[in-house]
This record gives sequence, C-alpha cells and structure tokens, in this order.
Amino acid sequence: MRPPVVRFAPSPTGRIHIGNARPALFNYLYARKNHGRFILRFDDTDVERSREEYAQSIEVDLAWLGVEPDAVYRQSQRFPLYVAATEKLKAMGRLYPCYETADELDRRRKRQIARGAPPIYDRAALALSAEERAAFEAEGRRPHWRFRLEPGAVRWEDMVRGLSHIDASSMSDPVLIRGDGTWLYTLTSVADDIDLGVTHVIRGEDHVSNTAVQIELFEALAGAGAAPVFGHHNLLTTSSGEGLSKRSGALSIGALRDAGVEALAVAALAVLTGSSANVRAVHSLGELAGMFDIANTSRQAARFDEHELRALSARTLHGMDYEAARDRLVARDIVGHKAEPFWLAVRGNLARFAEVDDWWRVVEGEAPVAHEDAELLLAAREALPEEPWDAKTFGAWTARLKEATGRKGKALFHPLRLALTGRDNGPEMAALLPLMGRTKVLARLP
Ligand code: GLU
Repeated sequence: MRPPVVRFAPSPTGRIHIGNARPALFNYLYARKNHGRFILRFDDTDVERSREEYAQSIEVDLAWLGVEPDAVYRQSQRFPLYVAATEKLKAMGRLYPCYETADELDRRRKRQIARGAPPIYDRAALALSAEERAAFEAEGRRPHWRFRLEPGAVRWEDMVRGLSHIDASSMSDPVLIRGDGTWLYTLTSVADDIDLGVTHVIRGEDHVSNTAVQIELFEALAGAGAAPVFGHHNLLTTSSGEGLSKRSGALSIGALRDAGVEALAVAALAVLTGSSANVRAVHSLGELAGMFDIANTSRQAARFDEHELRALSARTLHGMDYEAARDRLVARDIVGHKAEPFWLAVRGNLARFAEVDDWWRVVEGEAPVAHEDAELLLAAREALPEEPWDAKTFGAWTARLKEATGRKGKALFHPLRLALTGRDNGPEMAALLPLMGRTKVLARLP
C-alpha cells in the first residue's frame, strides 16, 4: 500500500473542542499507524469569519494533544489552484452561471414543496441563452456558479459505514462559487486534496452529503477513480445527547487544558468513546494508535461524559512513568535524586498534575504541622530510627510505637500522618518517610 496522506481541515473560526479533536486524532493516528503523512489545512476562505488567532490557537491545542502535523497549509494562500480548478470545470461545461436571487430561489422551492415535489434546483439557468445571460449582466446581476451533477448513484466504500451511496438526482447542483466570486469549501477542499495527494478523507458524518458531490468533483478534475477513500465517523454529543458547537466553551481543548485535564486522557476519550474498544488510560499516543481502528467507530452518537474524562485523567496520572513526567516536574522545580521516588510515591494520589506542588512541599518544605495525641507523638520522637532510611523504616518505627503505646490502627497511624504531612490522607507513609528524612520528621514532631 502507498503510504497514506490524510488531513485535518478546520476552519479557523473558533477554538477547537473535544468533538473537533476526534477527526484530528483519527487522521493523525491513522497516518502514524500506517507510516503516512498528516497535513493540517486551514479552511480559511471565509475571510469574514476566519481569524489568525484561532488558527494559532488550533495549532497550540493540537500540539498539546501531541498531534504534530507534517505540513501546514492555508487555503487563503492557495487561490491560484482554485482559479485553475474553476477554469477547468468551466471548460468542461460542468460549471454554469446562475442569476437567480435568493428570493427567487426561495419562492421556487416553496412552489415545489406545495406541489409535493422535492425542492431540487430545476437547472433553469442551464437553459439560458447567451442573450439572456447578457441581459442579466446588464441589469448588474453577478452570477453564482453551480456544478452540474451527473445523474445516477454515487457509490463509495466508507471506512466506517461500509458500502454507501447517494443518488445524485436527489440533490440540487451545488453552488461552488458565490455571487461575490468567493469559493465554497466544496471546491477548494477537492482542489487541495488533489494537489496534496490526499489518499484518505476521515471526517464527521455531518459531511456525508458532501461526499457524493466531492467524488464527482474529484472525477471531473482528476479523472475516474481519482477520489480518495472516505470515512465518516460518528459525532460526539453531550451526555444529554446534544451536539457540541463552537460555543461549547467549557469543552474547548484550551479550557480542558486550563482545568488541568491530562492531554492523553482527552485523546483517549476522544478516540475510544463511541468505538467498540473500552475507554481506558494510555501511556502514549503510540499506544492509542495501536488500539485505534477507524472501522470500529460505531455509527451511533458517541456521548461525552465530563466525569468520565476527569476520572480518566486521574487514572492517566496514576499510571504515568517517571520518564513521561520528568520534564513537567523539572518545569516545577521538582529536581534532584528525590524527584523519581517522589513521583512514584505521589502519582497515585493525584487528580491533577499541579497537585505535585503540594506534595513536594510536604516532602521538601515547611508542611503545616497539626498535632493530635501529643503523648503518641512524644513516644514517636523517642522511637524514631536512625538513618539511613528506606521503604521499611516506617514499618519498623510504627511496630516499635505500637509496642510502646499499645495504640494500633487508625489511632496509631492518623496522628503520625497528620503531624508529618498536615493531611488526613495521601501517599503511603512508607514511601514519604525516606523522602522527608530524619531532620524534617523530627521538626514536625512535638
Ligand atoms: N472545513 C471542514 C470542516 O471543518 C472540513 C471538512 C473535511 O474534512 O472535508 O468541517
């Protein structure tokens, strides 16, 4: 198989959310698994709504997720390609000028519906003579341009949905160029996919109806059989079943990052929700790539559950190797020979990565001291073993104390934990004790 070329093609008209992260990850993981190329293409021909700051934030968000494009393109910089495609279609007679106003089209549609006919464009403009066109132009009307569809069914083998077809006769000839001369995404996307050698188009099922038109366009512009393989995945909904929109601010990738959610948890949930694989924590995108199969994306809506994301994020931390955490620990000044045993001791107690700061303070800094049961703590001072300390020290110490004071269970352990960490619960004391060292422990006992 030729190495695949795939693309994620957001329009930079807002921040991306977890629903948009799915096609990004599906494409990226597909390329990664099959040693192909992953392209990020900004569909920014809509100059009114596209913003450079959104394009930048999308790149930042993708990088945070670990999605690194092999190349980045902007449609706004590729107009000559679309001009050439337009000219080619015109020369073939597949693109024809139409002069109806929106009102006229609307009235015509209403009449069709009243007659019980499907509201399909009647191709009246195709029958216009050169004189009639000239008369419209003289009136000052600017044409929009429609693509003449071939009659009959368009078929494709969808990577997710299997054998699919749409009857082109059930569709209006689509407008590819607006009256103001701007292109619609339908054309620019195909021109780009041809130019960039895209082999697989993986996108949401909201695009299924575009696919028939686009397959015809691929064939018109690049010849029979030129269309890439298409795969349409299910769409993510909220847990109550509503669609996500760009206004779903709290679920934007940036907001999840700011809330301390782990990128790998977002990726695992985005990819595995709504598939036949169980959602579980992963150590790397490589591992996720191994679990991912686009064909296993179910056709039902995938529901997004924020509680599940939080829990998955915590589990991602609990299983995170020191190697994976090291740079982030260094960035928080958690360095030195203690850093690794510290990470291994505390990771199982983290809900968010930033909580390492609190535990590092417990181990290294001034922990808030809270004393209960002064008698026990005085005895604890007496019984405290000499260094060197290791993972067995806490056990030896508490065994002595149990004998000396008769205390056991919670009555023995809780006052010690509280005195040494200032908290009611947390990582294993046996792991924390050698990290604190004798001097710190003594300073926290009465
Ligand atoms: N710009 C389109 C979108 O964001 C791209 C769809 C496609 O992948 O072709 O929905």
